[in-house]
Amino acid sequence: MRVALYLVTLFCGLHLSSIVYAQDEHHDHDAGHRHHGAHVHGMATLDLVMDDHQLMMHLKSPLMNFLGFEHQPETEQQKAIYQDMLQQLEMLATLVEVQGSSCKAESIEVEEPFADADEAGHADVDVSYFLHCEEPENITELKINLFDVYSNLESLQVQMVLPTGQQQLKLNQQRTSIRIQ
Ligand SMILES: [Zn+2]
Repeated sequence: MRVALYLVTLFCGLHLSSIVYAQDEHHDHDAGHRHHGAHVHGMATLDLVMDDHQLMMHLKSPLMNFLGFEHQPETEQQKAIYQDMLQQLEMLATLVEVQGSSCKAESIEVEEPFADADEAGHADVDVSYFLHCEEPENITELKINLFDVYSNLESLQVQMVLPTGQQQLKLNQQRTSIRIQ
């Protein structure tokens, strides 16, 4: 598939991403808001909302943390790194292990990162995970695995809205777990 898209890109001058993510155009109304937050390499944010059996997580990070670059992939190597990242992000285990309840991803939405790069060429990864958990009241801990996969990621600012209230905390390579109860 990568080869086919690459050829299309070569001959038509189209962007690889505009083909892959054509179905994501309904997210464009969010575009104006996506770069209002701080874009600091090494840092990322995770918003987490637990509501009954639903667990929603929104991860936003400079692309630099995950790819080592923020422009459209150009070389074959960069394209491979980019595809690997997309595949990683679509595996829930890359982001989180939920302790105490079995949770299943009902949908994972990865936004196209290059369409919305700022003037200086900075671009963000923007992923939303929608989980359904069997016994949400028994969840004790969320183990965040991103630091194992992406060594450029230094800190993750977490904002949680739980049935018990709101909470903020900061994770890093030494501290990777969120205790829920
Ligand atoms: Zn940047």
